[in-house]
Amino acid sequence: MAKQKSAFWKIKSLSEMNDAEWESLCDGCGRCCLNKLENEDNGDILYTDVACKLLNLKSCRCGDYHHRVKRIPGCLVLSMAHPEYFMLLPDSCAYRRLHEGKLLPHWHPLISGTTDSVHLAGISIAGKCISEQYLHPEELEDRIIEFND
Ligand code: SF4
Ligand code: SF4
Repeated sequence: MAKQKSAFWKIKSLSEMNDAEWESLCDGCGRCCLNKLENEDNGDILYTDVACKLLNLKSCRCGDYHHRVKRIPGCLVLSMAHPEYFMLLPDSCAYRRLHEGKLLPHWHPLISGTTDSVHLAGISIAGKCISEQYLHPEELEDRIIEFND
């Protein structure tokens, strides 16, 4: 059995984590890389199944992570400098969960020990989305989805 990492996320706040710890919180679901719309009536964030053109649709990883901000102006860089961004993330996201005082779920790679668990639990968007390259922006409203978890 693989040696379990110390559960730093239980003893440190988000602002106390080092870069490696912070990055390891990302489960690789890819949900935050889906195009979003805002409900004009109540401000709710509505997710679509249309992914950013830089997202690798199989691995759910960014195709150019280090240059993402230059290439995609709307890409959010998460940090404690902008805690308001956490509310734009899906409920399942580890950053949002920890920010809200919740635990990491059983399928999170830091708990399960494998990134496969995110796909097996149906959390990742692999195989469930299309790239924005193949869609006109006006079609986004027809692509709204809900996450059932
Ligand atoms: S939603 Fe959260 S956990 Fe999923 S890819 Fe985005 S930052 Fe990572
Ligand atoms: S640039 Fe990369 S991290 Fe940002 S939304 Fe696109 S795929 Fe996701």
